[in-house]
Amino acid sequence: MSTQTPSIQTPQAIRGTQDIFGPDAEAFAFVVETFERVRRLYRFRRVEMPVFEKTAVFSRSLGETTDVVSKEMYSFEDRGGESLTLRPEFTAGIARAFITDGWQQYAPLKIATHGPLFRYERPQKGRYRQFHQIDAEIIGAAEPQVDVELLVMADQLLKELGIADGVTLQLNTLGDGASREAWRTALIDYFRAVKGDLSEDSQDRLERNPLRILDSKDPRDKPFTADAPKIDDFLSDEAQDFFAKVTGGLDAAGVAWTRAPALVRGLDYYRHTAFEFVTDRLGAQGTVLGGGRYDGLMEALGGAATPAVGWAAGIERLAMLVGEKGEAKADVIVVVEDDALLTSGIAQVSHLRRSGVSAELVASGSARKRFDKAVKMGAQAILALAMRDGQAAARVRAEDSASADLRELLDKQVAQL
Ligand code: ATP
Ligand code: MG
Repeated sequence: MSTQTPSIQTPQAIRGTQDIFGPDAEAFAFVVETFERVRRLYRFRRVEMPVFEKTAVFSRSLGETTDVVSKEMYSFEDRGGESLTLRPEFTAGIARAFITDGWQQYAPLKIATHGPLFRYERPQKGRYRQFHQIDAEIIGAAEPQVDVELLVMADQLLKELGIADGVTLQLNTLGDGASREAWRTALIDYFRAVKGDLSEDSQDRLERNPLRILDSKDPRDKPFTADAPKIDDFLSDEAQDFFAKVTGGLDAAGVAWTRAPALVRGLDYYRHTAFEFVTDRLGAQGTVLGGGRYDGLMEALGGAATPAVGWAAGIERLAMLVGEKGEAKADVIVVVEDDALLTSGIAQVSHLRRSGVSAELVASGSARKRFDKAVKMGAQAILALAMRDGQAAARVRAEDSASADLRELLDKQVAQL
């Protein structure tokens, strides 16, 4: 029993963090377990990455005018006076490791991870300050079929989570360096003419990074983004060919997609393929998975030019689509109806668990009420231990749905009693 000292105020959780428990935690675990299964099917290797990095890892790669770098990073000086940042995304840290750890030798490298990320945003449904992502990257491969593989994997994941209905893949190309530069110039000309009507943020971005305006969520910018110049008018033949191979591969794999010519993504390092899986079932927080090709990132971090492509998906948003998941009932509940049989109960429940059967021990509270308690908890079978005429006796009550294997295992255990 815990007691609370009345004069001490319990510190509250940090705004924008969540304590995930019960059916929500089950849905969260279901997302991670499904991702782990799918990434093995696609032969992605698991990596674990640090939660914090030197600030430069993120500021050099994500782009100074992106929301994440300009206002969302948790940066601080450590006791040694070094500027560190809690990771706001996975890709930059993974790219840093690729360079500093010599992962070049494993290229092309398919890797996957999941874990917490931190962004100082306005907390609301589907948007938190500590949130979690699953993440998949292919580093050191320039071919469009690699983009296809990643997208087919994302599509299969959403299907296996049972949430693919109502989620659409929005696909765009940002072209190669030359296409992108020509598009950028055209965007500056176009937005300059309406500068006074844009949001302050967008006016600020206009000369430095006009692509950002296309990703603006400010309603004042929306009327102008729809009619802005499209990348298609600036794509080089090579960039067009690359994109055609990506869409052709998706069609061959049976993955539905929609062209989204104004999609640019929240971070600056993307080239060629950019995509989001979007739903209207989560209100304003409708992007569940996003990514693209980031061929320029390694160089921005001081490494050799290395093509790469990846995606990340918010676990909380995926879990919200999955809905609450019940906690699974035990296969077997072992009930000790006489305290003299406690050690026997411990032996029985241990043996069941070692045999791969999920089991719970009920051995506390009034002995007469323990069996009813087990019935209420529910299980495939109940194994009750009691004394009859000075002898230990066991009885098994199995549900009709209990498997033959489970019945056999319990019969064996009872016989050995
Ligand atoms: P948004 O447009 O919703 O701000 P984003 O473009 O900033 O998303 P990414 O950086 O692409 O998001 O991250 C990939 C995914 O991570 C998003 O699609 C979303 O599912 C999830 N995500 C991003 N930020 C948050 C957050 N603050 N809280 C919860 N999930 C988030
Ligand atoms: Mg964002």
